[in-house]
Amino acid sequence: MIRDTDFLGLTVLVAGAAGPARRVIRRYRHAGAVVRCLESPGDRARTVLDDVALVALVDEGQPGWDRLAADCRASSTLLVRERAAAPRGRVTLVGGGPGPDDLLTVRALEALREADVVFYDRLGPHRNLAELSGGADLIDVGKRPGHHPVVQSDIERRMVDAARAGHHVVRLKGGDPFVFGRGGEEVASCVEAGVEVTVVPGITSAVSVPAAAGIPVTHRAVSHLFTVISGHAPLSVVEYEHLAGLGGTIVVLMGVGTLPQLMAGLATAGMDRRTPVAIVERGYSDSQRTTVSDLSGAVRAAAAAGCKSPAVLVIGDVVRQGGKSGSVAEQCAGLAPAAEGV
Ligand code: SAH
Repeated sequence: MIRDTDFLGLTVLVAGAAGPARRVIRRYRHAGAVVRCLESPGDRARTVLDDVALVALVDEGQPGWDRLAADCRASSTLLVRERAAAPRGRVTLVGGGPGPDDLLTVRALEALREADVVFYDRLGPHRNLAELSGGADLIDVGKRPGHHPVVQSDIERRMVDAARAGHHVVRLKGGDPFVFGRGGEEVASCVEAGVEVTVVPGITSAVSVPAAAGIPVTHRAVSHLFTVISGHAPLSVVEYEHLAGLGGTIVVLMGVGTLPQLMAGLATAGMDRRTPVAIVERGYSDSQRTTVSDLSGAVRAAAAAGCKSPAVLVIGDVVRQGGKSGSVAEQCAGLAPAAEGV
């Protein structure tokens, strides 16, 4: 990966037509290189190579670049082959995982590297975006709870406009784009506008944040199903009843604000009040914290600890497994023993 200062002051010769090579040119400039361009194989290359540290070849199959490659070999100049920018604009919806860069997929990194414009969210990995996307335009459209800096329809319109202007637009989202991420709507608006769109899945917080606290969402002989719900708005009585009757694990995203309603709703619907509840805040960050309690005590425990969004709630006996890996062992020791037969 090219970092900010990797090419500081070095001369890089980018060989290839200006349009297809534009992303490569921008990336090396962003990395500090002095970029020289050789637009067609017909231009003289040998003398040009004298002070060149690297040749970046954007080969679109024109005859003649072989000579440049041979010249590189003869003068021991490094040559890398780079991908040409697609002639038409498009959108790639990218799942960025739960936060850290190293939980981005290889395909996500590739899409960022090839981006002209990145629309990103607060929850996705964005701290090193400038490096990961090699100088692409970075546009923050993140939402904080209760605040909507850029409304959804504007995000969609801006993405479509940028793609129509010929750019490769990456829409970077936290976790997986199709888990409470409005990814489906963004795909639909691209399709409607006739803009090519692809989706790169991401590691969802629904599974990975419990894992960060040592909690498996399924565990043999403990839970063989898990249900992921949004706590964005309280559920209906019927939904609480269905949930309480499912058994297995319940994972709640965006649930800190509606914790009281959820705990009361499940208890009223008949769920055992001693069912373990874990609140995992800021998974994979330096300030990750897990608060363990049970259905009857979770509201008090969350208030006492000052639990805040972003957090993933885990409701079910799998929470005890987190105790076995150490980090929340003490908190799990305070739980009531698991019910008979589990
Ligand atoms: N598409 C995302 C979810 C978006 S909804 C995904 O698949 O993960 C946003 C919610 O995700 C937050 O309110 C929180 O409940 C959860 N979340 C995302 N990242 C998190 C993290 N690093 N730590 C804790 N919760 C997180």
